[in-house]
Amino acid sequence: MTDERYMPSFFDLTGKTAIVTGASSGIGRAIAVALAQAGARVAGVARSPQDETARRVREAGGDYLAITADLASIEPIERILDETLGWAGRADILVNNAGIIRRADPLEFSEQDWDDVANVDLKSVFFLSQAFARRALARGGGAKIINVASVLAYTGGIRVPSYTAAKHGVAGLTKLLANEWAAKGINVNAIAPGYVRTDATQALQDDPERSERLLSRIPAGRWGEPEDMGGAAVFLASRASDYCHGSILVVDGGWLAA
Ligand code: NAP
Repeated sequence: MTDERYMPSFFDLTGKTAIVTGASSGIGRAIAVALAQAGARVAGVARSPQDETARRVREAGGDYLAITADLASIEPIERILDETLGWAGRADILVNNAGIIRRADPLEFSEQDWDDVANVDLKSVFFLSQAFARRALARGGGAKIINVASVLAYTGGIRVPSYTAAKHGVAGLTKLLANEWAAKGINVNAIAPGYVRTDATQALQDDPERSERLLSRIPAGRWGEPEDMGGAAVFLASRASDYCHGSILVVDGGWLAA
């Protein structure tokens, strides 16, 4: 029998502070808004302005801090933690969402396109998690890390070698860090989005043939919207997921099941 008195508090993030990387658009923005709706304060990280995200978070009743940083290198990572802790006094949730993709034939793929993607999508994910975990362990009381992987952590895709390698890496890192930190009170899990309408997939959306082929393989019969990722993020950020460690929550309209 369900005791409904306990249902809202399962997902309540009141008093928590979340860092969301890549919060200036797409999935990161939607996750920032969803976490704010659940009660969290949000510090967003991106290179470009985050005014629209800040507006939507505040509209949802939340507090927002925009941190400008380029995660192509690990140089700004300590500052991201310092600014967040200076603002909110704590950081309970880290969403490693920032990511880029480069598309080219593997026979032509450049070292630059390899390094650029690997740096943002994989290297910074590890070192930001490390810096966040050090502070969380010093504070005590538990924390949540949510990595944004992809269905390309399961399948190969085409024309995206560095992205597929990085996302497989994110899945592996999620499991490794869960092994290392579960007993220390840090939950490390991931979301694996399917095909979601954002700037990152604009080229696919604009290609009628590829777009139609993708759509015909999605059992839900539609592309994902950034907001479709919000519930999974709230779940993995909340005490509802306290016993989840190393899980990769696929949110793909059924793509992987097809
Ligand atoms: P998006 O709209 O292009 O958003 C990417 C975000 O990452 C932006 O906020 C961008 O901000 C930030 N970012 C990129 N490079 C950065 C850097 N060097 N330093 C700091 N921030 C940086 O794409 P999206 O689709 O929402 O992607 C978000 C995540 O979801 C990515 O990890 C992506 O791989 C993953 N994903 C997306 C899909 C999909 O279908 N869309 C599917 C599976 C997984 P600035 O440009 O302002 O820096």
